[in-house]
Amino acid sequence: AKRVYLFTEGNREDRDLLGGKGANLCEMTNLGLPVPFGFIITTPTCREFFENGNKLPNLLEQEYRVALDLVEKKMDARFGDPDNPLLFSVRSGAPISMPGMMNTILNLGLNDEIAEGLARKTDNPRFAYDSYRRFIQMFAEVVMSQDAHAFEKEIEHYKKDRGYATDMDMTAADWRAIVERFKAMADFPQDPFVQLRLAVEAVFLSWHTPRANVYREMNNIPDSLGTAVTVQSMVYGNFGDDSGSGVAFTRNPSTGENLFFGEFLFNAAGEDVVAGTRTPQPISALADKLPAVYDQLNETQALLERHYRDMQDIEFTVQEGRFYMLQTRSGKRTGRASVKIAVDMVRDGLINEKEALLRVSPDHVEAFLHPMVDPDAKTDIITTGLPASPGGATGAIVFSADEAVKVARDGTAVILVRRETTPEDIHGMKVAEGILTELGGMTSHAAVVARGMGVCAITGASGLSVDAEAGTATTKDGVTLKRGDIITLDGTAGEVMLGDIPKTEASSSDDFQTLLSWADKHRRLKVRANAETPEDAIRARELGAEGIGLCRTEHMFFDSDRIDLMRAMILAPDKKTRKSHLKKLQVFQQADIYALFKAMDGLPVTVRLLDPPLHEFLPHGEEETRALAGRLKLPVAEVHSAVTELSEVNPMLGFRGCRLSVVYPEITRMQVRAIIGAAIQATEDGYQPYPEIMIPLTVNVREIRLIGDIIDASIRRVLGEKSVSLRYKVGTMMETPRACLGADRLATAVEFMSFGTNDLTQMTYGFSRDDAGRFIPQYLDKKLIEHDPFISLDQRAVGRLMRLAVEESRAVNKGIKYGICGEHGGDPRSIQFCHELGLDYVSCSPYRVPVARVAAAQAHV
Ligand code: ADP
Ligand code: MG
Ligand code: MG
Repeated sequence: AKRVYLFTEGNREDRDLLGGKGANLCEMTNLGLPVPFGFIITTPTCREFFENGNKLPNLLEQEYRVALDLVEKKMDARFGDPDNPLLFSVRSGAPISMPGMMNTILNLGLNDEIAEGLARKTDNPRFAYDSYRRFIQMFAEVVMSQDAHAFEKEIEHYKKDRGYATDMDMTAADWRAIVERFKAMADFPQDPFVQLRLAVEAVFLSWHTPRANVYREMNNIPDSLGTAVTVQSMVYGNFGDDSGSGVAFTRNPSTGENLFFGEFLFNAAGEDVVAGTRTPQPISALADKLPAVYDQLNETQALLERHYRDMQDIEFTVQEGRFYMLQTRSGKRTGRASVKIAVDMVRDGLINEKEALLRVSPDHVEAFLHPMVDPDAKTDIITTGLPASPGGATGAIVFSADEAVKVARDGTAVILVRRETTPEDIHGMKVAEGILTELGGMTSHAAVVARGMGVCAITGASGLSVDAEAGTATTKDGVTLKRGDIITLDGTAGEVMLGDIPKTEASSSDDFQTLLSWADKHRRLKVRANAETPEDAIRARELGAEGIGLCRTEHMFFDSDRIDLMRAMILAPDKKTRKSHLKKLQVFQQADIYALFKAMDGLPVTVRLLDPPLHEFLPHGEEETRALAGRLKLPVAEVHSAVTELSEVNPMLGFRGCRLSVVYPEITRMQVRAIIGAAIQATEDGYQPYPEIMIPLTVNVREIRLIGDIIDASIRRVLGEKSVSLRYKVGTMMETPRACLGADRLATAVEFMSFGTNDLTQMTYGFSRDDAGRFIPQYLDKKLIEHDPFISLDQRAVGRLMRLAVEESRAVNKGIKYGICGEHGGDPRSIQFCHELGLDYVSCSPYRVPVARVAAAQAHV
């Protein structure tokens, strides 16, 4: 296949083949913009190079020499000719932009003789030797892997010795002297064609520089893509005072404001702008000094934005008052800018609503919901973990929930640092600005609760060793954090930093609301929230939730005014005592559920029957057991033996879910009475409650029939003579492989199915979700899995079970409604999959609702 393309032979569609930079250089050439001519070696050639053991394919050099001849003709100069030299830049460029991650060499084709020729021909020796030293420096760094600092230092010393303040003081003779010193430091080939070949190889190799690898890892860019190599005729910003280089954005990349925004350096090569060695001037300086060039730049940027219909980030150079375009690409932008630009462009008729929706990423949406750590301000990352709950938070370290409450009381912001969290830590989690745990994955208690509360959290920070007793947390590198130390969490990236790092404010905007309204218009999937408290439900509704997809009733029993009642019920010696406790618990449960119906007036509320093993409600330690016995007026030994008796070897696969209903039907009766009682009460108060009763952890249809009978009987009893007509449904959670494989039978007994993908993933893989944090990072590292299956739904196996369940159950019972309520319900990739599967709704934490609305729309447009 053809490996080399001239700039006239490609266009913007050729990103995969020519890399983004190359494809856009072709496109700009086609548009008639002043682009220095050149050619591109394709990305498949890069893959060939690696497969070949890092050797260029045999015929490649012949092939690019043909292209090179044509470039020479067009430029009217010759590569390697001292009398009329043509120089090249050799530039990297992948299909997906990786700014600054790979290498570029400028001024290639210079040697002693040609540098002299260039000086002669241009009558500008200062420029010629400045260019030469730049070339040696870059070639030594990129091709010969030498330390660039050594060269910089050499220049620094030279200037110091002569009392020069800046590079501007350097004369032709000075640069010539520098060239001599550099030549002593780097023994580079004088033959331009050898230089070219080595440079092409070096650019291919730069695909695997550590920083490029890390960048791809972070941004989910496949390693297999490879980079193209662009070989382009040089133009010279360092030619003199009517020359220079600049970078510009067609709109402001941090605010989105529709104002051309850029920076320019006179008498400088492009690398000087990027390297930050000199401080550039605002673009207006160019307008003052070279107005004709500025006009051309301004026209070009407007043309490019109209042509690409997106905000562009451009690189350009001015040589002797002539303007040249060197790069254009879609500009990186902040979340706020992204939304503003998308909405503005729809208003201006540049793009339509659907395109606008596709321009906004989930991270962009997050920026409106949480304060975010300013990426430019990041320093001192001391450890990392899973990005469990987005946003940024700063506070003083505390090591227990009680301490959190105590310290937060006098207005101090706290970060709760734990090995892991349990339901008993809730009070501390509520007051914390952020939560950091050593253990646990994306579905650990800490992660789920923090997301629910919209509190920033990092879990599974396995490089951290937390010793709550000693009041220390130590990183692998030996940094020891103590109680009261100030740290900042970036829950969006999973990074822990020392000190108070600046953050951007969270606040909605009219543009954001406009975008969300478009999302609602263009999606089919409904979005519900997982919520137990009225505050969460109200919040969720404000954020656009269309009901509750999962109310975990167990959370309602942890509050201090009822937890002991719950425990007494569990420890009850006989059925009668248990029933009397249940009666009292019903009052709490009914009031809680009533509040949810009120908050979700008119919308469905899915209430899941009690799910966790009962021992989760009981105290663990000796002391707490004793205290409980005291409060319940029971013999300590009795409480103790009950606790021991209830404990399980493998609680996640143990006595939980609907198995509780089978053994303790009285608990289920109480819950149903509370749900229906609350619904009747709400109806009488003028609301429209819509309960959906959900049976957890089902494995077969007989369970559902048995529990369904209990539910029906309870409903009949509560409704009794009452003449209210209630709308309600009974359904099941699909979270065991067996439920999915037997969905055709389950379908005969339910009105809805909701995929509980946390458990379904756990049971499909046999990975305990509470322990997987220890090995999943290794699995990702070694590429045994593509994504953490607890974060992004495993479409291949778990997804296959879901598909089977939907197809087989629908064949039996057309009316079934399908939802998902695992943590995947808020993950954009998983939402896309759920859309394709034809589910009716996704349910996620309240703060994920806006993200899910946008993702659901993106899946549909
Ligand atoms: P990156 O991908 O890191 O931005 P580039 O390939 O864009 O690397 O090169 C960096 C800079 O080098 C450009 O911004 C530009 O200023 C300069 N440069 C690249 N090619 C040329 C050229 N043909 N003439 C002049 N300057 C160039
Ligand atoms: Mg660039
Ligand atoms: Mg479950």
